[in-house]
This record gives sequence, C-alpha cells and structure tokens, in this order.
Amino acid sequence: MNKKYTFTYRRIGGDCSHCSQQKNSILSSKKQIECERDWKNVEVIGHGPEVTEANIEEVINGVSSMKTVRSNNATRMVLYFEDGGLTVLANWNECELKLGQDWVLATKEKMEAEAGRDIKLSVGK
Ligand SMILES: [Zn+2]
Repeated sequence: MNKKYTFTYRRIGGDCSHCSQQKNSILSSKKQIECERDWKNVEVIGHGPEVTEANIEEVINGVSSMKTVRSNNATRMVLYFEDGGLTVLANWNECELKLGQDWVLATKEKMEAEAGRDIKLSVGK
C-alpha cells in the first residue's frame, strides 16, 4: 500500500481566467473563481510525468523490426489517488511544485517495499 503525501503545486505560466476577470472588471463580486496562481494541495499516493508509447521501425543490418519506445511527456503530470483514480495536469511546464518530508518518507517506504529491507536516510536530522 502506498503512503499518502501532499502534492503542492501552482500554475505560474499561461492565462488564469480568474486573474484576467479581475483585471477586466472592477465589479468582480460575481462568482469566485479559483486562482490558478494560488498554491494547491492535493493528497496523492504517487505522481510522475505521463508516459507515452510509440511504435517505431528499427532497421539493424538491413533487418526491419518494430520497437516500442516509451518516453516521458514533461508537459503532462499524472497524479495518482488512494481510491485508484488519477488526474492529469496539462501544461505542467507552466507549473511550480513543492514536495515536503511526507513525500520523502513515502518514497523511502516504497523503495523499502521494493527492495525488501530498510533504507537508511539522512533526512530530518
Ligand atoms: Zn488568478
């Protein structure tokens, strides 16, 4: 079972409909739209760039074969939740990320589970 940690992010690039509305109307007392520039906290059990797969033809010594190439899409970040769901954050290259010690501990536990033993960390001294 993966441990939960807080994934903290905010959007610093692109347009924020909240900010442009504030700029365009002085009487912006209508509906409160969430600002993309504010830090957002999400409880996750994992995160990572979206992985894309492509089949390409590879020719070695005149012999052609199909090869599956996996690559990370740095512009799309995938968040994994405890209930098995996930969310993809588009235009991730326009965002800022903060991870705390709970993430360090979650990563340590995951590594230990995979390695089947304790891993010594020099964090939090
Ligand atoms: Zn805004």
